[in-house]
Amino acid sequence: MATIKCIGILTSGGDAPGMNAAIRAVTRAAIYNGLRVKGIYRGYKGLVTGEILEFKTQNVSNIIHQGGTILKTARCKEFTTPEGRALAYENMRKEEIDALVIIGGDGSLTGARIFAQEYDVPCIGLPGTIDNDLYGTDTTIGYDTALNTILDAVDKIRDTATSHERLFFVEVMGRDAGFLALNGAIAAGAEAAIIPEFSTEVDQLAEFIKNGFRKSKNSSIVLVAESDITGGAMALAERVKNEYPQYDVRVSILGHLQRGGRPTAHDRIIASRMGTASIEALMEGQRNVMIGIEHDEIVYVPFTKAIKNDKPIKKELVNVLNSLSI
Ligand code: ADP
Repeated sequence: MATIKCIGILTSGGDAPGMNAAIRAVTRAAIYNGLRVKGIYRGYKGLVTGEILEFKTQNVSNIIHQGGTILKTARCKEFTTPEGRALAYENMRKEEIDALVIIGGDGSLTGARIFAQEYDVPCIGLPGTIDNDLYGTDTTIGYDTALNTILDAVDKIRDTATSHERLFFVEVMGRDAGFLALNGAIAAGAEAAIIPEFSTEVDQLAEFIKNGFRKSKNSSIVLVAESDITGGAMALAERVKNEYPQYDVRVSILGHLQRGGRPTAHDRIIASRMGTASIEALMEGQRNVMIGIEHDEIVYVPFTKAIKNDKPIKKELVNVLNSLSI
Protein backbone atom coordinates (compact mmCIF):
# COMPACT_ATOMS: atom_id res chain seq x y z
CA MET A 1 0.00 0.00 0.00
CA ALA A 2 1.43 3.41 -0.99
CA THR A 3 2.19 5.67 1.96
CA ILE A 4 -0.16 8.54 2.49
CA LYS A 5 1.51 11.94 2.39
CA CYS A 6 -1.37 14.25 1.62
CA ILE A 7 -5.06 14.07 2.46
CA GLY A 8 -8.02 15.92 1.00
CA ILE A 9 -10.96 16.92 3.16
CA LEU A 10 -14.46 17.87 2.12
CA THR A 11 -17.94 18.44 3.56
CA SER A 12 -20.84 17.22 1.45
CA GLY A 13 -24.63 17.02 1.38
CA GLY A 14 -26.72 18.62 4.11
CA ASP A 15 -24.69 20.83 6.45
CA ALA A 16 -24.61 20.22 10.18
CA PRO A 17 -23.31 22.21 13.16
CA GLY A 18 -19.95 20.80 14.21
CA MET A 19 -18.68 20.26 10.67
CA ASN A 20 -16.19 23.09 11.25
CA ALA A 21 -14.94 21.44 14.43
CA ALA A 22 -14.44 18.26 12.38
CA ILE A 23 -12.58 20.12 9.61
CA ARG A 24 -10.33 21.64 12.26
CA ALA A 25 -9.67 18.29 13.92
CA VAL A 26 -8.89 16.45 10.68
CA THR A 27 -6.59 19.25 9.51
CA ARG A 28 -4.70 19.62 12.76
CA ALA A 29 -4.41 15.87 13.42
CA ALA A 30 -3.06 15.36 9.90
CA ILE A 31 -0.49 18.13 10.23
CA TYR A 32 0.45 16.87 13.71
CA ASN A 33 1.19 13.49 12.10
CA GLY A 34 3.33 15.01 9.35
CA LEU A 35 0.74 14.92 6.55
CA ARG A 36 -0.19 17.68 4.14
CA VAL A 37 -3.83 18.74 3.96
CA LYS A 38 -5.89 20.09 1.09
CA GLY A 39 -9.33 21.61 1.60
CA ILE A 40 -11.77 20.72 -1.17
CA TYR A 41 -14.58 23.27 -1.58
CA ARG A 42 -18.29 22.56 -2.12
CA GLY A 43 -18.17 18.84 -1.52
CA TYR A 44 -17.61 16.56 -4.49
CA LYS A 45 -18.19 19.54 -6.76
CA GLY A 46 -14.80 20.97 -5.76
CA LEU A 47 -13.16 17.65 -6.46
CA VAL A 48 -14.70 17.54 -9.94
CA THR A 49 -13.86 21.17 -10.77
CA GLY A 50 -10.55 21.38 -8.92
CA GLU A 51 -11.56 23.96 -6.31
CA ILE A 52 -8.87 22.88 -3.87
CA LEU A 53 -6.62 24.81 -1.48
CA GLU A 54 -3.65 23.76 0.66
CA PHE A 55 -4.58 24.03 4.35
CA LYS A 56 -2.22 25.01 7.17
CA THR A 57 -3.16 25.04 10.84
CA GLN A 58 -4.17 28.72 10.57
CA ASN A 59 -6.78 27.93 7.93
CA VAL A 60 -8.84 26.28 10.64
CA SER A 61 -8.28 28.83 13.42
CA ASN A 62 -11.32 30.32 15.13
CA ILE A 63 -13.87 28.02 13.56
CA ILE A 64 -14.57 25.44 16.29
CA HIS A 65 -17.50 27.47 17.62
CA GLN A 66 -19.08 28.30 14.26
CA GLY A 67 -22.02 26.49 12.66
CA GLY A 68 -22.02 25.74 8.93
CA THR A 69 -18.87 24.71 7.10
CA ILE A 70 -15.98 26.90 5.96
CA LEU A 71 -15.44 24.45 3.09
CA LYS A 72 -19.04 25.04 1.95
CA THR A 73 -21.18 22.12 0.95
CA ALA A 74 -23.12 21.20 -2.13
CA ARG A 75 -24.93 18.45 -3.89
CA CYS A 76 -23.05 17.33 -7.00
CA LYS A 77 -24.80 15.51 -9.82
CA GLU A 78 -21.62 15.03 -11.89
CA PHE A 79 -20.10 12.90 -9.14
CA THR A 80 -22.92 10.40 -9.51
CA THR A 81 -21.71 9.67 -13.07
CA PRO A 82 -18.55 7.71 -14.03
CA GLU A 83 -17.37 10.69 -16.13
CA GLY A 84 -17.67 13.04 -13.15
CA ARG A 85 -15.78 10.67 -10.87
CA ALA A 86 -13.04 10.32 -13.53
CA LEU A 87 -12.57 14.10 -13.43
CA ALA A 88 -12.51 13.96 -9.63
CA TYR A 89 -9.78 11.32 -9.71
CA GLU A 90 -7.75 13.34 -12.24
CA ASN A 91 -7.86 16.34 -9.91
CA MET A 92 -6.82 14.20 -6.95
CA ARG A 93 -3.75 13.03 -8.87
CA LYS A 94 -2.97 16.57 -10.04
CA GLU A 95 -3.14 17.84 -6.45
CA GLU A 96 -1.17 14.83 -5.16
CA ILE A 97 -3.98 13.89 -2.77
CA ASP A 98 -3.51 10.28 -1.62
CA ALA A 99 -6.61 9.84 0.58
CA LEU A 100 -9.90 11.56 1.34
CA VAL A 101 -11.79 12.37 4.53
CA ILE A 102 -15.46 12.95 3.72
CA ILE A 103 -17.75 14.61 6.26
CA GLY A 104 -21.40 14.08 5.38
CA GLY A 105 -24.46 11.92 5.55
CA ASP A 106 -25.73 8.79 3.92
CA GLY A 107 -25.50 10.09 0.33
CA SER A 108 -21.98 11.45 0.74
CA LEU A 109 -20.73 8.15 2.16
CA THR A 110 -22.44 6.27 -0.69
CA GLY A 111 -20.48 8.45 -3.13
CA ALA A 112 -17.26 7.75 -1.20
CA ARG A 113 -17.87 4.02 -1.28
CA ILE A 114 -18.37 3.99 -5.05
CA PHE A 115 -15.36 6.25 -5.69
CA ALA A 116 -13.11 4.18 -3.43
CA GLN A 117 -14.12 1.01 -5.21
CA GLU A 118 -13.57 2.43 -8.69
CA TYR A 119 -10.22 4.09 -8.11
CA ASP A 120 -8.76 2.28 -5.11
CA VAL A 121 -8.56 5.54 -3.16
CA PRO A 122 -8.48 5.29 0.67
CA CYS A 123 -11.55 7.10 1.98
CA ILE A 124 -12.60 7.70 5.57
CA GLY A 125 -16.07 9.02 6.37
CA LEU A 126 -17.20 11.12 9.31
CA PRO A 127 -20.94 11.07 10.11
CA GLY A 128 -21.96 14.71 9.66
CA THR A 129 -25.74 15.01 9.73
CA ILE A 130 -28.33 16.41 12.10
CA ASP A 131 -30.58 13.40 11.39
CA ASN A 132 -28.52 10.84 13.37
CA ASP A 133 -29.54 8.26 10.78
CA LEU A 134 -26.24 6.50 10.17
CA TYR A 135 -25.91 2.93 11.36
CA GLY A 136 -23.00 1.94 13.58
CA THR A 137 -22.63 5.14 15.57
CA ASP A 138 -24.58 6.21 18.64
CA THR A 139 -24.59 9.79 17.46
CA THR A 140 -23.65 11.98 14.50
CA ILE A 141 -21.98 15.38 14.28
CA GLY A 142 -24.72 18.04 14.46
CA TYR A 143 -27.47 15.94 15.98
CA ASP A 144 -27.09 17.21 19.54
CA THR A 145 -27.02 20.84 18.42
CA ALA A 146 -30.14 20.38 16.29
CA LEU A 147 -31.89 18.70 19.20
CA ASN A 148 -31.10 21.68 21.43
CA THR A 149 -32.30 24.10 18.75
CA ILE A 150 -35.59 22.21 18.57
CA LEU A 151 -35.84 22.41 22.34
CA ASP A 152 -35.42 26.20 22.33
CA ALA A 153 -38.13 26.53 19.69
CA VAL A 154 -40.60 24.17 21.35
CA ASP A 155 -40.16 25.87 24.73
CA LYS A 156 -41.29 29.09 23.06
CA ILE A 157 -44.16 27.44 21.20
CA ARG A 158 -45.31 26.01 24.53
CA ASP A 159 -45.89 29.54 25.87
CA THR A 160 -48.27 30.43 23.08
CA ALA A 161 -49.85 26.95 22.91
CA THR A 162 -50.73 27.19 26.60
CA SER A 163 -52.05 30.74 26.39
CA HIS A 164 -54.43 29.87 23.57
CA GLU A 165 -55.18 26.30 24.68
CA ARG A 166 -54.18 24.91 21.31
CA LEU A 167 -52.92 21.69 19.83
CA PHE A 168 -49.62 22.34 18.05
CA PHE A 169 -47.92 20.15 15.49
CA VAL A 170 -44.24 21.06 15.30
CA GLU A 171 -42.48 19.62 12.27
CA VAL A 172 -38.81 18.82 12.65
CA MET A 173 -36.22 17.47 10.22
CA GLY A 174 -35.14 13.88 10.09
CA ARG A 175 -35.45 12.68 6.51
CA ASP A 176 -37.23 9.47 7.32
CA ALA A 177 -35.62 9.11 10.74
CA GLY A 178 -37.48 9.90 13.95
CA PHE A 179 -34.53 10.57 16.28
CA LEU A 180 -34.95 14.35 16.36
CA ALA A 181 -38.74 14.12 16.76
CA LEU A 182 -38.77 11.45 19.44
CA ASN A 183 -35.88 12.65 21.58
CA GLY A 184 -36.94 16.26 20.96
CA ALA A 185 -40.41 15.38 22.27
CA ILE A 186 -38.99 13.74 25.40
CA ALA A 187 -36.65 16.66 26.10
CA ALA A 188 -39.31 19.30 25.45
CA GLY A 189 -41.96 17.49 27.48
CA ALA A 190 -44.19 17.24 24.42
CA GLU A 191 -47.21 14.93 24.43
CA ALA A 192 -46.30 12.78 21.46
CA ALA A 193 -43.99 12.25 18.51
CA ILE A 194 -45.14 11.05 15.13
CA ILE A 195 -42.25 9.32 13.42
CA PRO A 196 -41.75 7.33 10.21
CA GLU A 197 -40.36 4.24 11.96
CA PHE A 198 -43.73 3.42 13.52
CA SER A 199 -46.07 4.93 10.92
CA THR A 200 -46.74 1.65 9.19
CA GLU A 201 -47.48 -0.18 12.47
CA VAL A 202 -50.07 2.09 14.02
CA ASP A 203 -52.11 5.17 13.24
CA GLN A 204 -50.05 7.37 15.56
CA LEU A 205 -52.41 10.33 15.28
CA ALA A 206 -55.47 8.30 16.24
CA GLU A 207 -53.51 6.71 19.11
CA PHE A 208 -52.43 10.09 20.35
CA ILE A 209 -55.93 11.53 20.25
CA LYS A 210 -57.24 8.43 21.98
CA ASN A 211 -54.57 8.21 24.69
CA GLY A 212 -52.69 11.41 24.98
CA PHE A 213 -54.76 14.46 24.29
CA ARG A 214 -56.93 14.61 27.37
CA LYS A 215 -59.50 17.22 28.16
CA SER A 216 -57.62 17.84 31.40
CA LYS A 217 -54.78 19.35 29.40
CA ASN A 218 -55.31 22.81 28.10
CA SER A 219 -52.69 22.54 25.37
CA SER A 220 -50.71 19.93 23.57
CA ILE A 221 -47.54 19.76 21.53
CA VAL A 222 -46.78 16.96 19.11
CA LEU A 223 -43.45 16.70 17.30
CA VAL A 224 -43.72 15.37 13.76
CA ALA A 225 -40.81 14.06 11.71
CA GLU A 226 -40.76 15.58 8.23
CA SER A 227 -41.27 12.59 5.96
CA ASP A 228 -43.53 11.29 3.23
CA ILE A 229 -44.30 8.38 5.52
CA THR A 230 -45.70 10.52 8.36
CA GLY A 231 -47.24 12.91 5.85
CA GLY A 232 -45.74 15.88 7.70
CA ALA A 233 -47.34 18.34 10.13
CA MET A 234 -49.58 20.10 7.58
CA ALA A 235 -51.27 16.87 6.49
CA LEU A 236 -51.79 15.80 10.10
CA ALA A 237 -53.32 19.15 10.98
CA GLU A 238 -55.71 18.80 8.06
CA ARG A 239 -56.73 15.39 9.35
CA VAL A 240 -57.41 16.81 12.80
CA LYS A 241 -59.50 19.62 11.32
CA ASN A 242 -61.60 17.05 9.47
CA GLU A 243 -61.75 14.21 11.96
CA TYR A 244 -61.56 16.03 15.31
CA PRO A 245 -62.96 19.53 14.65
CA GLN A 246 -63.29 20.22 18.37
CA TYR A 247 -59.55 20.90 18.59
CA ASP A 248 -57.95 24.24 17.80
CA VAL A 249 -54.92 23.11 15.82
CA ARG A 250 -51.84 25.00 14.61
CA VAL A 251 -48.68 24.03 12.72
CA SER A 252 -45.12 25.24 13.10
CA ILE A 253 -42.47 24.00 10.68
CA LEU A 254 -39.02 24.61 12.12
CA GLY A 255 -37.18 24.06 8.82
CA HIS A 256 -33.64 25.18 8.18
CA LEU A 257 -33.06 26.93 11.46
CA GLN A 258 -32.39 23.41 12.77
CA ARG A 259 -29.22 23.23 10.69
CA GLY A 260 -27.63 26.39 12.04
CA GLY A 261 -26.17 27.72 15.24
CA ARG A 262 -23.17 27.27 17.51
CA PRO A 263 -22.37 23.60 17.95
CA THR A 264 -22.91 22.27 21.47
CA ALA A 265 -19.99 21.05 23.57
CA HIS A 266 -21.07 17.49 22.79
CA ASP A 267 -20.90 18.03 19.03
CA ARG A 268 -17.56 19.82 19.22
CA ILE A 269 -16.11 16.99 21.29
CA ILE A 270 -17.33 14.16 19.07
CA ALA A 271 -16.23 16.10 15.95
CA SER A 272 -12.77 16.53 17.50
CA ARG A 273 -12.56 12.86 18.49
CA MET A 274 -13.83 11.56 15.17
CA GLY A 275 -11.61 13.93 13.18
CA THR A 276 -8.52 12.81 15.10
CA ALA A 277 -9.57 9.17 14.72
CA SER A 278 -9.93 9.57 10.94
CA ILE A 279 -6.22 10.35 10.63
CA GLU A 280 -5.24 7.54 13.01
CA ALA A 281 -7.37 5.18 10.93
CA LEU A 282 -5.64 6.21 7.70
CA MET A 283 -2.21 5.83 9.28
CA GLU A 284 -3.18 2.34 10.50
CA GLY A 285 -4.08 1.39 6.92
CA GLN A 286 -7.85 1.52 7.38
CA ARG A 287 -9.87 2.47 4.34
CA ASN A 288 -13.50 2.76 3.33
CA VAL A 289 -14.80 2.98 6.85
CA MET A 290 -16.89 5.52 8.68
CA ILE A 291 -15.68 6.62 12.09
CA GLY A 292 -18.38 6.07 14.69
CA ILE A 293 -18.72 6.30 18.44
CA GLU A 294 -20.39 3.42 20.27
CA HIS A 295 -20.53 3.18 24.05
CA ASP A 296 -18.17 6.15 24.11
CA GLU A 297 -15.48 4.28 22.14
CA ILE A 298 -14.28 5.04 18.62
CA VAL A 299 -15.31 2.34 16.15
CA TYR A 300 -14.69 1.76 12.44
CA VAL A 301 -17.84 0.96 10.49
CA PRO A 302 -17.47 -0.30 6.90
CA PHE A 303 -19.26 2.05 4.49
CA THR A 304 -21.53 -0.74 3.30
CA LYS A 305 -22.76 -1.34 6.85
CA ALA A 306 -23.20 2.34 7.75
CA ILE A 307 -25.20 3.09 4.62
CA LYS A 308 -27.24 -0.04 4.03
CA ASN A 309 -28.56 -0.77 7.50
CA ASP A 310 -31.39 1.23 8.99
CA LYS A 311 -30.47 2.54 12.39
CA PRO A 312 -33.05 1.19 14.82
CA ILE A 313 -34.94 3.53 17.11
CA LYS A 314 -35.54 2.28 20.64
CA LYS A 315 -39.14 1.47 21.56
CA GLU A 316 -38.14 2.26 25.14
CA LEU A 317 -38.05 5.94 24.13
CA VAL A 318 -41.68 5.76 23.02
CA ASN A 319 -42.59 4.21 26.36
CA VAL A 320 -40.79 7.00 28.19
CA LEU A 321 -42.66 9.61 26.19
CA ASN A 322 -46.03 7.90 26.64
CA SER A 323 -45.67 7.36 30.35
CA LEU A 324 -44.54 10.92 31.01
CA SER A 325 -47.17 12.68 28.92
CA ILE A 326 -50.19 11.66 30.99
P1 ADP B 1 -26.09 13.58 2.50
O1 ADP B 1 -24.65 13.24 2.47
O2 ADP B 1 -26.42 14.66 3.46
O3 ADP B 1 -26.95 12.34 2.64
P2 ADP B 1 -26.88 13.75 -0.35
O4 ADP B 1 -27.71 12.52 -0.31
O5 ADP B 1 -27.41 14.94 -1.04
O6 ADP B 1 -26.45 14.26 1.10
O7 ADP B 1 -25.49 13.34 -1.04
C1 ADP B 1 -24.45 14.28 -1.18
C2 ADP B 1 -23.68 14.05 -2.44
O8 ADP B 1 -23.06 12.74 -2.41
C3 ADP B 1 -24.49 14.02 -3.72
O9 ADP B 1 -24.79 15.32 -4.21
C4 ADP B 1 -23.57 13.29 -4.67
O10 ADP B 1 -22.55 14.14 -5.17
C5 ADP B 1 -22.93 12.26 -3.74
N1 ADP B 1 -23.66 10.99 -3.89
C6 ADP B 1 -24.81 10.61 -3.31
N2 ADP B 1 -25.23 9.40 -3.74
C7 ADP B 1 -24.30 9.01 -4.66
C8 ADP B 1 -24.14 7.86 -5.52
N3 ADP B 1 -25.03 6.86 -5.50
N4 ADP B 1 -23.06 7.82 -6.32
C9 ADP B 1 -22.15 8.80 -6.34
N5 ADP B 1 -22.26 9.92 -5.58
C10 ADP B 1 -23.29 10.02 -4.76
